[in-house]
Amino acid sequence: MFREPTWEKTIDTNGKGREKAMSRTNVEFLPRDAVHQLQMERLQMTLNRAYFNVDFYRQRMDNLKILPEDVALLNDFRAFPFTTRQDLADHYPYGLFAEPLKSIVRLKISTPGLGDRGKPVVIGFTRHDVAMWQDLMVRLFQQLGITDRDIVQVAFNFSLFPGAFTFNHAAELIGATLAPSATISATMQLQIMQDFRSTVLATSSAFALHMVETMERLGFTGAELNLRLVMLGPDPLWEETRERLENGFRVPVYGLYGVAEMVEPGIAGECSAKDGLHLAEDQFLVEIVHPVTGEPVPRGQEGELVLTTLTAEAYPLLRYRTGDITVLKESPCSCGRSLARITPVLRRTDNRVSIRGISLYPENVEEFLTSLDPDLQDIRLVITTSYGIGEHLEILLARDPARPFPEGNRSQYLDSMRSHVRRALGFGTKVQLVDFERLPKEGLIYKTVFRTLPPLSSPE
Ligand SMILES: [Zn+2]
Repeated sequence: MFREPTWEKTIDTNGKGREKAMSRTNVEFLPRDAVHQLQMERLQMTLNRAYFNVDFYRQRMDNLKILPEDVALLNDFRAFPFTTRQDLADHYPYGLFAEPLKSIVRLKISTPGLGDRGKPVVIGFTRHDVAMWQDLMVRLFQQLGITDRDIVQVAFNFSLFPGAFTFNHAAELIGATLAPSATISATMQLQIMQDFRSTVLATSSAFALHMVETMERLGFTGAELNLRLVMLGPDPLWEETRERLENGFRVPVYGLYGVAEMVEPGIAGECSAKDGLHLAEDQFLVEIVHPVTGEPVPRGQEGELVLTTLTAEAYPLLRYRTGDITVLKESPCSCGRSLARITPVLRRTDNRVSIRGISLYPENVEEFLTSLDPDLQDIRLVITTSYGIGEHLEILLARDPARPFPEGNRSQYLDSMRSHVRRALGFGTKVQLVDFERLPKEGLIYKTVFRTLPPLSSPE
């Protein structure tokens, strides 16, 4: 059986473990049949863990009259029901944990924004799970050629995107110089980038676009920076966005992928070939299914990504429906890695939208607002986008004109709604009252309208 060392064994405190650590990336170059064999061995361990430690999964297997050892082939496993986000919420907080709390070293709460029909989802990590996540991030860094010579500027909103911390950890594990610049303005970010001679920028697509526009407004180009590459998460990276950013920064721009209920980012990432995101198939079993029938789609066709954790100790998930539509590519990659790739997420199977990397479900927003004011007639979310990325959210409310404002008068009412929304969402939004007849006609996504932001208009 293929064996891989763990980070604890390969990294020593003075950083000299780097060369040894590099060798562990050989899992990325295994022949496909060895990858499949490794997956089936690990799936067996995961099934045992789920059966003996998680009531939810044991009941499901008992109902199917299947024991973990009955699953010898991938086809056997396809008899298992899917796990959905609703299952996770239904067992909040610790119902799906496979380890006692004393073994959990980190919790991660995932809320779909406002409302959430009651319950968020909390997942847990043991020490081993944390090391695995860090290891995956190191792999994604190394597959882009980031080394201890790099200066990595990490510009994320750490409170809104918990996965941002893993960029810090990965940079430090590699021995690169970390420059966490968090949420300071684009002008200051660019100043730091020049002063520190940062070689790698890690940020969101929306903020990267804003930085490019700021740079152009200030009258300088990417050629005057020391940057080597830009890595983006957690939103999917569209080719149009990549082109705009590469023209602005004048360096290659790469995308990453993760799932909030597992690790985000860390599940997949691009290599220098930019021909899809290599999946960590040694840690996740991948299926692509038809989003309605749940049946496997023919090779090369788009479908919903379904993932099974293969080494997670604290929170094993069997056949988890990510809601992300993508295409699996198993053809050889020019970089030589044998791990399969996915395209950036083409769309969602549900109504989830994203504003500055923060996910929201419009129906949950509606439920939340109606709980604050039962006399609302209707709502619209107006999302302003730039290069297809949600930048700003405006909420339009139409309420029954015959009913008095619950907060006394119109301006008090709006102030109160704005502050409730800000608290629930974590960032401020415009909230306006309009007549029911004047609400814009909703688009393809429930009660949501998209407006395109003209380029070069982002406020500093
Ligand atoms: Zn590749």
